[in-house]
Amino acid sequence: MKPKSAEAARNTQKGTPTQDGIGPFCHLAGLFGQRLYFYNRTKRYTDKLKIDSSRCIGCGQCAAVCPMKNITLVDGSAKSGERCTMCYRCISRCPQQCITLLGKRVVEQCRIERYL
Ligand code: SF4
Ligand code: SF4
Repeated sequence: MKPKSAEAARNTQKGTPTQDGIGPFCHLAGLFGQRLYFYNRTKRYTDKLKIDSSRCIGCGQCAAVCPMKNITLVDGSAKSGERCTMCYRCISRCPQQCITLLGKRVVEQCRIERYL
């Protein structure tokens, strides 16, 4: 792992996340370089999260990690709303690998714990 990534992982573990990329210049670069370009592309995916209810065990881990509170548990099974920002947190967390967004199966689950 690159030293900068390792440092960021350590800082996150300590509860003091690295502040790189939060300044005004980075905001402008992100706005023009990425956000405006991807905005319309990602908008149509906000309600496309798929949860295979036949495999869901209702553990609630997906709902707990979703920053948008987009996932709720209904009758012991996870259901997705229409506020998904495609952050992939829930997809990486689900122990059943039953959440997908763009593909039909989970190829890899990336968790920060792997880098700590
Ligand atoms: S991908 Fe992110 S925003 Fe979308 S439902 Fe999962 S955790 Fe929430
Ligand atoms: S993390 Fe997976 S198994 Fe657990 S409630 Fe969510 S979809 Fe179901």
